[in-house]
Amino acid sequence: MAKLLEGRPIAERMKEGLKQQIAGLSCKPVLASVMVGTNAGASSYVKSQEKTAESLGIEYRLTELPQETTEEQLVACIEKLNSDKSVNGIIIQMPLPNHLDAKIASCSIAPEKDVEGMNPAHVGQFLCAKTALVPCTAAAVMELIKETGVHVYGKDVVIVGHSQIVGKPLTLLLLEKLATVTVCHIGTSKAGKLADHVRTAEILIVAVGKAGLIKGEWIKEGAVVIDVGINRVHDTIVGDVEFDAAAQRAAWITPVPGGVGPLTVTMLMRNVLLSCKRQP
Ligand code: NAP
Repeated sequence: MAKLLEGRPIAERMKEGLKQQIAGLSCKPVLASVMVGTNAGASSYVKSQEKTAESLGIEYRLTELPQETTEEQLVACIEKLNSDKSVNGIIIQMPLPNHLDAKIASCSIAPEKDVEGMNPAHVGQFLCAKTALVPCTAAAVMELIKETGVHVYGKDVVIVGHSQIVGKPLTLLLLEKLATVTVCHIGTSKAGKLADHVRTAEILIVAVGKAGLIKGEWIKEGAVVIDVGINRVHDTIVGDVEFDAAAQRAAWITPVPGGVGPLTVTMLMRNVLLSCKRQP
């Protein structure tokens, strides 16, 4: 039976360290958050960010823009925050209303204030193995793997999902550590090869957003299973992996909720502190 890989205790430990470092700064770091329109998911994420920021001594400045905000108005708002010297980090709450392009908005954040690591400048830094602000969810996954004590060097790692915030940055982070990385996506599933790849995984990371996509019987005995997916099914939250069956075979498995989620917000705050320290 797998050991439970919970994010909350790791997050609490990290927050203690962050709090001490922030208390030692000459001024309070500021995280500017931009939300367009109303969205239940984004609003609850904003509350959790605000609570965590305040508990650490980070000022959380929320700008709420109306649903009908144009692309030009959103970019103008971000550019104003870029030039505001009191702001250390900027986050745009997703999803944006359909008429707005998330890529254009993310790219308009100044790289030094891009605490979610979404700007293409960061992807370039990753590729060149330079220190960059690591996208928060990918950083959370790396912390969870570290917690298991399993070394990724030479391991067969399978990542399911290749999004810009999870799968792609994780691929680069794990390659840096000399894991053998296989990235699966919709093409893998459509070709009927997903199960075969998953069966080889010594470390499996799934970030798709489809409940039950990964069958428990596919899990390699003794694997580390990190389930990033969040799905609402009959009023409960579940991941992308069949938890009970997978837990019979894995050595470690993250619960959903309670695995990756609690660490993601902490990683965001760590990036705010890093960018604050780097800015003049
Ligand atoms: P996303 O941008 O929609 O990416 C989903 C990925 O899954 C895409 O690469 C997609 O491939 C792939 N995919 C879709 N259907 C597939 C299938 N049948 N088989 C294999 N791959 C498939 O989503 P995301 O933003 O990365 O988020 C993924 C999940 O993680 C969501 O449930 C989200 O809520 C959750 N999440 C959790 C946290 C946290 O802190 N816990 C943070 C971020 C995201 P194609 O693009 O080729 O279709």
